[in-house]
Amino acid sequence: MRYLILSDVHANLEALDAVLGAAPRDTWDRALVLGDLVGYGADPNEVIARVRALDPLAVIRGNHDKAACGVDDAAAFNHLARRAAEWTYETLTDQHRVWLRNLPAGPVVIDETLEICHGAPFDEDAYIFDGRDAARAFDTSTRQLCLFGHTHLPVIFLHSDTRFEGTVPEGEEFTLPIETGVRYLVNPGSVGQPRDGDPRAAFAVYDGPHRSLRLRRVEYAVAAAQQKITAAGLPPSLANRLGLGR
Ligand code: ZN
Repeated sequence: MRYLILSDVHANLEALDAVLGAAPRDTWDRALVLGDLVGYGADPNEVIARVRALDPLAVIRGNHDKAACGVDDAAAFNHLARRAAEWTYETLTDQHRVWLRNLPAGPVVIDETLEICHGAPFDEDAYIFDGRDAARAFDTSTRQLCLFGHTHLPVIFLHSDTRFEGTVPEGEEFTLPIETGVRYLVNPGSVGQPRDGDPRAAFAVYDGPHRSLRLRRVEYAVAAAQQKITAAGLPPSLANRLGLGR
């Protein structure tokens, strides 16, 4: 099976459409969505509709999804994120709010080799930033390859009997071979709000039969997404950060 991996779309329709354009339907079999479909961006309903139309094999919830549908009260959010969560709650259709409410928490096991989570396999809301976080995630992950999101920072941790490494994939494309005897913890980066200084949308395709994970970046209409955020009355800094990739 070949999987399209989407994480942290954050209601950015322009970024999602650019990703879907760069990864045509005949280049993958099923989609996996690692959470945070909404929050921050101006198109929550359109993004949910687009994702549902992909008929994804699995969609798990992120912290922003929980806040936007009332599962969580957003008390842990800073004021910008909370303002966006409130706006999203009001903007979502009833049907989409219910759909978000029914999303499962990660981790979710996809197949013999793969599992997905939003934050970490031990806690859907935890952040994996450094080697210590990664070590704990490797201890609790049950599959060779664990995909996660939440930090909006693309990163690859790998772990074997002799190696423990973290690398940051750079450039437009990075192909990671999945080797026998090595375990992997990978964040493909964020589709709709990258924070690694590269404003391009990030996503990945995992090719099971060929044992490779391809991490990609694609340009999208940042200005259009920014204008929608401003026009919606959302905080201007949420528009500005898209241009910076921060
Ligand atoms: Zn997020």
